[in-house]
Amino acid sequence: MNYAEFYRQSITDPETFWKEQASRIDWHQPFGKVRDYSNPPFAKWFVGGKTNLCHNAVDRWVASQPDAAALIAISTETETEKTYTFRELHAEVNRMAAIMLSLGVTRGDRVLIYMPMIAEAVFAMLACARIGAIHSVVFGGFASNSLATRIDDATPKLIVSADAGSRGGKAIAYKPLLDEAIELAGHKPQRVLLVDRKLMPMNLVAGRDTDYASERERYLDAQVPVVWLESNEPSYILYTSGTTGKPKGVQRDVGGYAVALAASMRHIYCGKPGETYFCTSDIGWVVGHSYIVYGPLIAGMATIMYEGLPTRPDGGVWWSIVDKYKVSRMFSSPTAIRVLKKQPPELMRKYDLSSLQALYLAGEPLDEPTSAWIAGALGVPIIDNYWQTETGWPILSIARGLDQRATRLGSPGVPMYGYNVKIINESTGEECGASQKGVLAIEGPLPPGCMQTIYGDDERFVKTYWSNFPQRLAYSTFDWGIRDADGYYFILGRTDDVINVAGHRLGTREIEESIASHPNIAEVAVVGIADQLKGQIAVAFAIPKNVDAAETPESRKALEAEVMATVDHQLGAVARPARVYFVGQLPKTRSGKLLRRSIQALCEGRDAGDLTTIEDPQSLQQIRQALAG
Ligand code: ATP
Ligand code: MG
Repeated sequence: MNYAEFYRQSITDPETFWKEQASRIDWHQPFGKVRDYSNPPFAKWFVGGKTNLCHNAVDRWVASQPDAAALIAISTETETEKTYTFRELHAEVNRMAAIMLSLGVTRGDRVLIYMPMIAEAVFAMLACARIGAIHSVVFGGFASNSLATRIDDATPKLIVSADAGSRGGKAIAYKPLLDEAIELAGHKPQRVLLVDRKLMPMNLVAGRDTDYASERERYLDAQVPVVWLESNEPSYILYTSGTTGKPKGVQRDVGGYAVALAASMRHIYCGKPGETYFCTSDIGWVVGHSYIVYGPLIAGMATIMYEGLPTRPDGGVWWSIVDKYKVSRMFSSPTAIRVLKKQPPELMRKYDLSSLQALYLAGEPLDEPTSAWIAGALGVPIIDNYWQTETGWPILSIARGLDQRATRLGSPGVPMYGYNVKIINESTGEECGASQKGVLAIEGPLPPGCMQTIYGDDERFVKTYWSNFPQRLAYSTFDWGIRDADGYYFILGRTDDVINVAGHRLGTREIEESIASHPNIAEVAVVGIADQLKGQIAVAFAIPKNVDAAETPESRKALEAEVMATVDHQLGAVARPARVYFVGQLPKTRSGKLLRRSIQALCEGRDAGDLTTIEDPQSLQQIRQALAG
């Protein structure tokens, strides 16, 4: 079947389409109805069917390939490397599940997982799935405040954590931050389970804290039966990155998610049992949930979990992993590739990368220079994929399992099966034609695997995502998009990143792309700031490639003028930023996304706002200094 037909069927006959995809996973009890959309925008998939994520990710492979590698945990921080076969992973998950049961966790209880990138974190996620508990993984880089708000929102019975993480060879405390967060939070978890990595001393709170290693000894031979869940019971809560404000607790189901991942592993990521998948994200993000843990394991692949920097011991470390474990599919982010681009090319050439068949990149716009560089360096297809925490798997990409169309620079591709993607005019609610800019939206129902609701807040779900267009119930992605005449989509930035200069609506992303095309600009953020005369004006903060070129006030002036001329030439004078400031670093979230809102606030003399997800607060200081002249 060609992709056009495949896609068409998914939209016009979703019941037949998804029924077929559902056969990619094991069902303990078959479902009755494929989908129930009687209460829009709430969708139910595979109603009445009973299944389990842990069974599909682990148990069923123990039956067919017990000795195949399942989880490869590599830490360049502690210099450890361990491969768990499906049989071994099964045993560890059973031990963890037994411990959780002994600590009073039952079906429907929340378990918050605040852990570094270690194998035990995966055991904990899968153990929750096994016993029907709802996990909420909180990114290990977050500090007490972010953690406390998530504890209060998810109200976990149990928290699983560790003494410390490690970054660049230095131990980073987890336990004291966790204690502080519990102190701050209104909700108090009954139990805390701690993995002691012996990286830092740790005090256990009597009656509350339990040491994992000693519990594990007690449950070495535990066999915990899988709890069969109705397809629409919740599997996990995951908070969005918080780039645009207060994070939202995305709640996902069991059956729809399992089917969506199984289908995506086949059609988009093209992974086969026995092969190795390497996703460089973190389990604290949706990419880590779907494509470090559940996706590859559901597909019977070995999955690599990596703790460490991409540049330590040297910038070749990821390529050495590809070589050693014969990775066939790799998934990373444009930010990470930009880091690797700065490394000496010999580090890459040292390794045999012939096992690698494709590299997938997601999370932020893939700029042309990065894409072109990595494509040239690896000689494999680079597949951009666009999606969100909310959707759990790609909305736009190229489904290479079925679709041999060429990628187009700057475009993540075409709508993935199941997503009825529209570009909608936000003031009229009407569909835009080809080459007309609008909001990227998805006609309901969302396909399997997407969020069911915002945890504990159905009303916020409807209000936030489904109430953005007049006369139309459609899910808003909050991203601007455009479709070209051949059906390729382009993301033009976030709807709240649009600026209005003298009545002209300009996407900050468009201006950023234009500025980044200047040969001496490495990275740039553009924000709109209030202006009495024009409503808003664009202001740019750019990182020069060659620092010398922005060392003196004169050289900065000259570079600024060149950058402005570039924008004039490409987009017109209306888009020209009023100022271009040069900085060494830009404020980003821990997931690598530009915090344009905070930059904007500083420019307008306001407080930088909610900074719980910022990577390095020092970057804001640079913005302040630049503004101060
Ligand atoms: P929040 O919703 O809390 O503000 P967030 O939107 O940054 O945070 P995520 O769900 O991690 O949280 O990110 C999804 C967003 O990332 C998309 O809406 C889009 O703006 C951007 N994005 C993801 N992948 C791509 C891509 N391939 N190309 C362009 N943009 C992308
Ligand atoms: Mg978002």
